[in-house]
Amino acid sequence: MTDYDIIIVGAGPAGSTVARSAAENGLNVLLLEKRQEIGVPVRCAEGVGKEKFNEIFKDIDKKWISAEVDGAKVYSPDKKTEIVLSGDKAGNEAGYVLNRKIFDKDLVKLATLAGSDLMVKTTATGLKKNKDQGTIELTMQNSDEIFTAETKILIGADGIESKIGNWAGMNTTLNLNELESCVQYQMTNIDFDERFCHFYLSYETIPGGYLWIFPKGKNVANIGLGVLSSLSKKSPKEYLDNFVNNNFPDGKIIEINAGGVPVGYPLKSAVNDNVMLVGDAARHVDPITGGGILNAMIGGLFATNIAIESINKKDYSVKTLKKYDELWKNDFGKTLHRNKKVQEKLLTTDDKTLNSIFHSMENYNITEANTKKLLYEIIKRNPKLLWDLKGLFI
Ligand SMILES: Cc1cc2nc3c(=O)[nH]c(=O)nc-3n(C[C@H](O)[C@H](O)[C@H](O)COP(=O)(O)OP(=O)(O)OC[C@H]3O[C@@H](n4cnc5c(N)ncnc54)[C@H](O)[C@@H]3O)c2cc1C
Repeated sequence: MTDYDIIIVGAGPAGSTVARSAAENGLNVLLLEKRQEIGVPVRCAEGVGKEKFNEIFKDIDKKWISAEVDGAKVYSPDKKTEIVLSGDKAGNEAGYVLNRKIFDKDLVKLATLAGSDLMVKTTATGLKKNKDQGTIELTMQNSDEIFTAETKILIGADGIESKIGNWAGMNTTLNLNELESCVQYQMTNIDFDERFCHFYLSYETIPGGYLWIFPKGKNVANIGLGVLSSLSKKSPKEYLDNFVNNNFPDGKIIEINAGGVPVGYPLKSAVNDNVMLVGDAARHVDPITGGGILNAMIGGLFATNIAIESINKKDYSVKTLKKYDELWKNDFGKTLHRNKKVQEKLLTTDDKTLNSIFHSMENYNITEANTKKLLYEIIKRNPKLLWDLKGLFI
């Protein structure tokens, strides 16, 4: 096969973003995807923050968006209190609810129109460093055919199940307490407030995670939940069925998806010689919300810039690629770290405490608060929590 400047393994939002921008910058690019069709099955609630999404795309195709919401509502475990967050405070997952079947496919179309090669139903199966050339030889399999290609830079955009980092000698182990197991139904015939994305918290009925309802159109929504595998006593489906039967007895399930979300700290470093990891493969997922689409694309753009720099310098060493680490750490990396600490606190907070925090915040104007201000306010109203929460300010 042809030699490439960049080979990207995985055509999710991270991989197709790298492929498009690298091809637009004149690089010789190959994008690989093991599925036979891009974008399906959709293992995602499909929520993204409006502001950042609008920054990434100059031209947003209306077909990418199933619904647009005003913000988010977060419910206390006893459901007696709800906190309403406006669009700009609702974080990276509430704003637009995408149609990823169309969106993911269109991102790949844009990459190929920019000049990237694409192989679907093709799985990366191993790699070898070519020390003489300073390149990587990637082995791939398409049906029964096994072949190799040479690349200067290899991008691991292979999602939660990523193997690229491990093959390249990086420690990408995901422990059981860092894995959120999710199940989601797309449901029709349900009556809910379609102006918001809805989040339900409960240590007892959704251990280590939360339940979401994201609108997909009139009386249609993605309803799903994620539970921490290490804490849950039942399967995520049992928890979800319980909620759906109690709240939407007339709802009809038109699609079922299951998937995993990495909720540990991001990798300390997402690079090695010739290799960069992006998106879920680099654990660039918010540990509280499980949102990773925007970071996958933003990180993908950072990785492309550094790949271009290293190719121009003919230096693909870890020393040069480390600049990618600096970029993502200075951007969303800090938030991922802070939110991981908050998530660890949440994991030890029982429903009684959560209820009292929610109740104490009932009349607070959250739309004017940033996370730090919010934490101060929670402590002001719940002084007993000072000792528990003080670590979050460091
Ligand atoms: C139930 C659920 C709900 C979610 N909800 C949200 C949400 O509302 N908002 C949000 O922002 N995020 C959400 N996420 C997370 C989001 O889906 C991911 O963060 C996002 O898809 C990451 O993009 P990616 O490109 O890194 O990986 P992926 O989208 O997972 O893409 C990786 C691709 O690599 C391919 N691949 C893997 N191995 C190989 C190989 N060896 N060879 C070739 N191809 C390979 C896979 O087939 C896949 O297509 C959710 C996740 C789950 C599971």
